[in-house]
Amino acid sequence: MKKISRRRFNTKLSQGIAGTAILGSVGLGYGFSPKKEKKKLGIALVGLGSYSGGQLAPGLQDAEHCYLAGIVTGTPAKEKEWMAKYNIPKKNVYNYENFDSIAKNSDIDIVYVVLPNSMHAEFCIRAAKAGKHVICEKPMAVSVAECDAIINACNEAGVKLSVGYRMQSDPYTNEIKRLVKEKPYGSVRYVSSDAGYISRGNPDQWRLNHALSGGGALMNMGVYSIQSNIYGTGQNPISVAAQEFSSKPEYFKDTDETITAQMEFPEGVVGNLFTSHNANANRLFVSFEKGWAELNPCHSYGPLSGRTSDGKEIKFPHQSQQKLQMDDFAKHIMLGTTNYAPGEMGKRDMIIVEAIYKSIKEGGKKIPLDLGDMGIVRR
Ligand code: NAD
Repeated sequence: MKKISRRRFNTKLSQGIAGTAILGSVGLGYGFSPKKEKKKLGIALVGLGSYSGGQLAPGLQDAEHCYLAGIVTGTPAKEKEWMAKYNIPKKNVYNYENFDSIAKNSDIDIVYVVLPNSMHAEFCIRAAKAGKHVICEKPMAVSVAECDAIINACNEAGVKLSVGYRMQSDPYTNEIKRLVKEKPYGSVRYVSSDAGYISRGNPDQWRLNHALSGGGALMNMGVYSIQSNIYGTGQNPISVAAQEFSSKPEYFKDTDETITAQMEFPEGVVGNLFTSHNANANRLFVSFEKGWAELNPCHSYGPLSGRTSDGKEIKFPHQSQQKLQMDDFAKHIMLGTTNYAPGEMGKRDMIIVEAIYKSIKEGGKKIPLDLGDMGIVRR
């Protein structure tokens, strides 16, 4: 087979030359000649904070289709520590300034942006311009316009894009999706989803700083409730109305503390959302015509727990959600399998986030949404 550059190959894919089908049917690894086939894709983590260190790097140790190949950090002390701990060669270590030269590094296939929310767009766009596939942490960005800019940059570069929605690869989430789709308890009539924790410590941390986070509880935890309202009904909402509550304005100076929202779905289905940085909440309840299903806990790293109205336990062996998520994306790139958390899903959620903030600003007014099937991914 004639060799072509990755950039050109990806561009061809994005031009719709049935690339996915070709990759899937031939079962190619990732390379363009048998010699260059890769069994595992190399991931570079950008931002070595608590999520990268606590969940992503450990998850990558067990991953089957990807591995921790590189790091991008603004903190020189972390370079040595991570190189030693994860056996990362110096040539795969970057800082925020020289990051763009990652374009020349064939060890790195995927750049995973794990920085404060307001930095996602800049680094995802730079990664796409460097010809790398992109995983962008949630929330995808701090505005719909930034989500569009990331999606456009990835399309232009012909690289794949995914959002760090680990729940989309989690078996408990997928069991709820199955119950919604196969209807053993009938159709969904009502869904309620809560996601929150009590924020303590430094009141100036980036999550409570609007310029860096783009918002408070809603941006951080509320996106989980938005996601589970949607997979818990199998549909996008057609309107949302929201309220904001504040009990500690001296601590939550700059960002929302607690938000509730009501979503309206087609055919009279109703959704309820609660999110907070000042209350612990971690539950999904789905009410069907002939029963119910509940996950509690629902959004944490696991093990999760669930049950249905007929006394059945929802139970799966515990696995790292991050491993499952990154393996799913690597398989999507290598084998053309489904992208379970595409950029459009992150953008759709940001449209809903913006509608919720608009509703609050307008005194709880119902904001219509026209999302169609945007970002709905069925298993
Ligand atoms: P963190 O504060 O622990 O780490 C942030 C990293 O960004 C640090 O390495 C820090 O040095 C770096 N950084 C660069 N510029 C910075 C600045 N101006 N201010 C603060 N930090 C700066 O945060 P985290 O918990 O690792 O979160 C990072 C991203 O990951 C966020 O977008 C967050 O929403 C997301 N996240 C996702 C999950 C999930 O379950 N999917 C869980 C946790 C965090």
